[in-house]
Amino acid sequence: MKLILLGAPGAGKGTQADILCDKLDIPTISTGNILRAAVKNGTPTGLKAKAFMDEGKLVPDEVIIGIISERLAEADCAKGYILDGVPRTIAQAEALERAGILFDSVVSLEVSDEEICSRMSGRRVCENCGASYHVVAVPPKTEGVCDKCGGNLIQRKDDAPETVKSRLEVYHKETEPLKAFYAERGLLKTVENQPTVEAISQAILRVLGR
Ligand code: AMP
Repeated sequence: MKLILLGAPGAGKGTQADILCDKLDIPTISTGNILRAAVKNGTPTGLKAKAFMDEGKLVPDEVIIGIISERLAEADCAKGYILDGVPRTIAQAEALERAGILFDSVVSLEVSDEEICSRMSGRRVCENCGASYHVVAVPPKTEGVCDKCGGNLIQRKDDAPETVKSRLEVYHKETEPLKAFYAERGLLKTVENQPTVEAISQAILRVLGR
């Protein structure tokens, strides 16, 4: 199963990807998590990406394509993967296609901008493994501590309200056109927002026929 999760920042791609990768037994590849680790470790990629990320802008396509082709070539991706946060532009989608990287399904998580803005203030991420939580909807067992690895939970710098607004603008302008791109290829499935995380997972599995 080669799957793309599409959706606005804060739509729940990371949370759903974590659940799906357990259920489907395939890895999640999140370019956001890879980039945050690169920034934290001060690698050349991290140094290039940091300023774009802090402002809520997209990191240049060539940096992303490099990261993703390297990651997808690793052994654990052989039987499938879930892409979270990539592709984010038509140019990235075309580059993946040119590289022969094809998909079985593209699931778009539909959440209104109002809901996104109110959600983002409660989001917390593990600074060690990147797992994501929400203070109300998906709380960790111990406040401030990651259930998976014991790492510290922090608020992302780019989840500040002004940055969220510009990330939503970038999403509508650069990423949303991917829905039409994948609909033309017969791959697009949309999942409307549901009251709980579990209900969204069920809805995703349903559109995937699982
Ligand atoms: P995310 O965790 O997916 O919200 O990504 C956080 C930030 O990383 C984004 O706001 C971008 O600056 C950068 N980023 C992540 N994935 C991509 C991508 N596929 N293309 C461009 N920039 C990306």
